Amino acid sequence: MSDDWFEETYREVFRVGLRVKKWFHRSQSEFQRIDIFDSEIFGRVLGLDGVLNTSEGAEAFYHEQMVHPAMVSARSARRVLLIGGGDGGTAREVLRHPCVESLVMVEIDGEVVEACKRHLSTIGSAWEDPRLELIIGDGAAYVARGDLEPFDVILLDGTDPEGPGEALYTANFYGNCRARLAEGGVFALQSASPFIQREIFFRAQARLRAAFPSVHPYFGPAPLYCSGVWSWTHASDGVDPLAIDEARLAAIEAGCFYYNREIHRAAFVQPNFIRQGLAKL
Ligand code: SAM
Repeated sequence: MSDDWFEETYREVFRVGLRVKKWFHRSQSEFQRIDIFDSEIFGRVLGLDGVLNTSEGAEAFYHEQMVHPAMVSARSARRVLLIGGGDGGTAREVLRHPCVESLVMVEIDGEVVEACKRHLSTIGSAWEDPRLELIIGDGAAYVARGDLEPFDVILLDGTDPEGPGEALYTANFYGNCRARLAEGGVFALQSASPFIQREIFFRAQARLRAAFPSVHPYFGPAPLYCSGVWSWTHASDGVDPLAIDEARLAAIEAGCFYYNREIHRAAFVQPNFIRQGLAKL
């Protein structure tokens, strides 16, 4: 990586890069390399271990899809758990829902949070919300605890399954998330690019199906990420992801950049290569 460019290389065969206008932060934490810089088109960008994670310009595509399908379809959405999400964008979208009484956020890397608070404050604009409890720790260890009150919604906004994110892609972790859900609860996670990371995507689907009776991947654009097409997955004990709570939707829809009622419905439509791949699991 030169000083002028931030380049993400996927498996030594595919590379995308952004020209750096200015570096704001460059460090190696206990868990990962953290870079924050300014760019054309995407504005300020967060890179973790050389992977483009979020940007001021395109974060809404990702964070709104990460949060709202689960928040408007769960039976209730008062008590929410977020694992990862160190840039603060997912927490911000959760806290836009007035029905939320508490959001517990468990992020492994306090250095990511501090760097993002300092340099990406437009993304993480809800750090001071009194409903937010931030715990710096491992999300996998947290959901393994047996002494937690059930959550209505659990969101996993984690990194790729390498480094600290690895523990968040196991069947055991998914099983623990299910055990922490209240009745009618929903677990939603980012589940990688179904195109260039299709083995990660299908492996996650298989493991989720082993842990949950009802698993529905959904799709959308994520312009910052390698390959552009992204997936998230809605998993539950049988909650219909298309049964929208009207009051909850009405409270957030007009303020969204990307998400709305029609996008919600369209996102769950499966392209043929996904249908065929899922049929083989
Ligand atoms: N949207 C991003 C993407 O897909 O590229 C991910 C956003 S967010 C910055 C990912 C966060 O997950 C990081 O801050 C990372 O520190 C956190 N994380 C990774 N492994 C974790 C774990 N085991 N427990 C809690 N947080 C974790």
